[in-house]
Amino acid sequence: MRIAEILEQQRPVFSFEFFPPKTDDGQRTLEGTLAVLKDDQPDYVSVTYGAGGTTRARTVEITKWIKQDLGIEAMAHLSCVGEPKERLTEILAEVRSAGIQNVLALRGDPPRGQTDWTPHPGGLSYSVELIRLIDDRFDFSIGAACFPEVHPDAPDRTSDLSYAREKVEAGASFLITQLFFDNELYFDFVDDARTAGINVPIVPGIMPITNVNQIKKITGMCGATIPEELERELDGRADDPEAVAELGVAYATLQCSDLLARGAPGIHFYTLNRSPATRAILAAVRAAHPWTRAKATV
Ligand code: FAD
Repeated sequence: MRIAEILEQQRPVFSFEFFPPKTDDGQRTLEGTLAVLKDDQPDYVSVTYGAGGTTRARTVEITKWIKQDLGIEAMAHLSCVGEPKERLTEILAEVRSAGIQNVLALRGDPPRGQTDWTPHPGGLSYSVELIRLIDDRFDFSIGAACFPEVHPDAPDRTSDLSYAREKVEAGASFLITQLFFDNELYFDFVDDARTAGINVPIVPGIMPITNVNQIKKITGMCGATIPEELERELDGRADDPEAVAELGVAYATLQCSDLLARGAPGIHFYTLNRSPATRAILAAVRAAHPWTRAKATV
């Protein structure tokens, strides 16, 4: 089913994001995680597209396995990194012929070791070009990324929002946010996006913290901030992985509950290929169903 239709028909929509593993061990972890998370009945699962090149072919393979063998709705991520236009078109045709109806169209980040974004000589420079290519030649439900704390390469919020609007005008029918830890950033962003004329669902992306060093590295790369009070609590537990994971689950549960109670259309969980945190958070919000208190959808 097309994700745009799922978002039209039901609220809230819960989705899980995975990355293709690089090793056999990683593959086993992913398979174990998915076998468990399947019982949590996500509305769809998405599979990222690696910048390094090694895991790219696996995105299509794993997305196909999720859709065809596990019977869960799936979305393949695709970025402009390292491929000419023709190859991107071939990948899209492969995804389509595997019966997958959903693509998250991205620019991608510079491959490891490079700091500046440089498009492939025969490729695309921005996600909006990929969205146009997809919309011209295929019949996918297209999603795109957006950034409550402004994309690190963008000169300011106004231009970042105008590019986000271009993505929607080009054919993106829903947006998923970069991870964030302060819900006011999300609600302010949604307000500004609506004012800028962006009227598609904006789904918050939430990453449950399970490891202090890992979350500092990730936020450092993507430009998200960790609120001071949360950072202090994390640092105080840095030597106790279990306590960090417990705090991570508690914090993300509060975040999700508040987002849903104030009308967010769903939650996209960045699972980092692990199940316990996402399972606990989802079970808690489903049991407490905070969305029934929402006055309107944002
Ligand atoms: P763009 O929309 O192309 O924007 C990139 C920058 O260029 C921004 O600063 C924007 O303001 C600016 N810009 C956009 N359009 C124009 C224009 N027409 N002219 C001038 N400037 C413009 N990365 C991966 O490699 N693989 C993944 O699977 C992946 N999944 C992700 C999933 C989600 C939900 C999110 C939020 C991010 C994901 N990323 C992934 C990371 C993403 O690729 C990076 O954040 C990347 O730096 C920006 O991608 P984008 O699609 O937003 O790029």
